[in-house]
Amino acid sequence: MKALVYHGPGKKSWEEKPKPVIVKPTDAVVKILKTTICGTDLHIMKGDLPEVADGRIIGHEGVGIIEEIGTAVSNFKTGDHVIISCVTSCGKCAYCKKGMYSHCEDGGWILGYKIDGTQAEYVRIPHADNSLYPIPAGSDEEALVMLSDILPTGFECGVLNGQVKPGDIVAIVGSGPIGIAALLTAQFYTPAEIIMIDQDENRLDVAKTFGATHIINSAKDDAIKKIKSLTNGRGVDVAIEAVGIPATFELCQEIIAPGGHIANIGVHGKSVTLHLEKLWSSNITITTRLVDTVTTPLLLKTVQAKKIEPKKLITHHFKLDQIIEAYDTFGNAAKEKALKVILEN
Ligand SMILES: [Zn+2]
Ligand SMILES: [Zn+2]
Repeated sequence: MKALVYHGPGKKSWEEKPKPVIVKPTDAVVKILKTTICGTDLHIMKGDLPEVADGRIIGHEGVGIIEEIGTAVSNFKTGDHVIISCVTSCGKCAYCKKGMYSHCEDGGWILGYKIDGTQAEYVRIPHADNSLYPIPAGSDEEALVMLSDILPTGFECGVLNGQVKPGDIVAIVGSGPIGIAALLTAQFYTPAEIIMIDQDENRLDVAKTFGATHIINSAKDDAIKKIKSLTNGRGVDVAIEAVGIPATFELCQEIIAPGGHIANIGVHGKSVTLHLEKLWSSNITITTRLVDTVTTPLLLKTVQAKKIEPKKLITHHFKLDQIIEAYDTFGNAAKEKALKVILEN
């Protein structure tokens, strides 16, 4: 089969690899129908995650058809259409029992990272019973690719951890796919205002069409001043960090109102300054989390019921064998006006 293979920083190729086979009885082999590229994949390609081995097939999102199942898989059969979760989980260990699939003792985020991933014609999924989700007949499968990672990530790490409530003023720092996923799912709780902050005018325009009540271009405007003036000097009830650099985490600390929640989603590679000298008396909660994907079934129902339309995040389509071109487009997101790209096998 063909697959996108990482060969060290800056080096990738679309090349022939052996088709995956069942290794353990709990495995399934899935034929990929549609997959996508994540910001995390760009980090891997840059060499930011040096633990990724030369020769690894990248990718942790997608939908497909079950090609083959191990003898211990009972929830699925050959031919079933499935959503592949970015998190692999056994469903049996102490962390899984707590709903912390991300820390599964025999899984977590391993797909396209520690084991071969979804940017290929076929992928092996360990613990298939707990790591795949059935796709209801007649679904728009393209939209469901957003359920592999970005929707549960925005919802669990941003909205649930941020404890968004009716009437809240929410600020989301970062209007990329994950920030938009937080914006979409925050609206389940009817916050009074959602302020999106980014430096890319196009992404802010998109955020407006997804329900942002205010947008701030922090490259042009003083975001702190603007937010203070929008909130009578109080700041926001929930600040969701969806970028992952020190400046954006510091911004969240500047704009949070007393009693507020700072929910981090961003993948941070550098340490940040915690301004405890200002925050110690402000009843602030700061949360961190890796997506567990425990909300995937719930989110699937909201997509089926058209309460949210994640399909609108898809800006570009490619054939799977055009993946190098797709990486160029997604890697130049601002210029190409790209949010999510779909690769079709
Ligand atoms: Zn991802
Ligand atoms: Zn587990």
